[in-house]
Amino acid sequence: CGIVAYVGHREACPLVIKGLKRLEYRGYDSAGVALINQHGLSVFKKKGKVVALEHELIGKDIQATIGMGHTRWATHGEPNDANAHPHYSFHRKLAIIHNGIIENYAAIKQALLKKGHTFTSETDTEVLGQFIEDIWENNGGSLEEAVRLALQEVVGAYAIVIMSQTDPTQLIAARKGSPLVIGVGDNEFFLASDATPIVEYTKDVIYLNDYEVAVIKDGQLSVVTLDNTTTTPYVHKVELEL
Ligand code: GLU
Repeated sequence: CGIVAYVGHREACPLVIKGLKRLEYRGYDSAGVALINQHGLSVFKKKGKVVALEHELIGKDIQATIGMGHTRWATHGEPNDANAHPHYSFHRKLAIIHNGIIENYAAIKQALLKKGHTFTSETDTEVLGQFIEDIWENNGGSLEEAVRLALQEVVGAYAIVIMSQTDPTQLIAARKGSPLVIGVGDNEFFLASDATPIVEYTKDVIYLNDYEVAVIKDGQLSVVTLDNTTTTPYVHKVELEL
């Protein structure tokens, strides 16, 4: 179970894949990436090792400067391609990766099913992604607001990252109970489950706290709590030998 994401000026996909390999020691059963380029928001995922995912990516146009990747340790739904992350939302406006467990996912899923939603996986994660998109569509507010409102309803543990079809400069991340580190570079940002995928690019890291949402947009980072209080993140200097 690991998370890596990037937005900036570098090729995102190789960076994300390399980062996922650094997190392989955490254990996992499947892997996937999402990216945004001229083809829109694309998701590639595969049961098995990161090398199986790399094989899947051969011949695909994965050139992009924003991307996110995930290694899954299945809790809801068997390890297979469909249950691997990232997951698209119902209208594919966003994609989500998640480490942890959404304990009340069944009740949320029931409500979405009543609204006519269908699901492509058995995961709690896909339910959260669809829930966020549904709030976003019905509220008329920002995606960030929809993420906060959805997470206020969520019981469980999570580190999540969301990318939206409508904004190729934006990554939204949040955590409660599962680790998430933000790397702050020069006009570029990194997200990861721990600092190991980040340190070769920047030593400046922020440890996101529980109940915080990080919004990276147009090269700017802001951090707010779930009840929308802006916090000033503390930037640590990491010295990590790899
Ligand atoms: N609960 C999610 C799933 O089963 C995420 C598991 C994980 O932490 O990788 O898909």
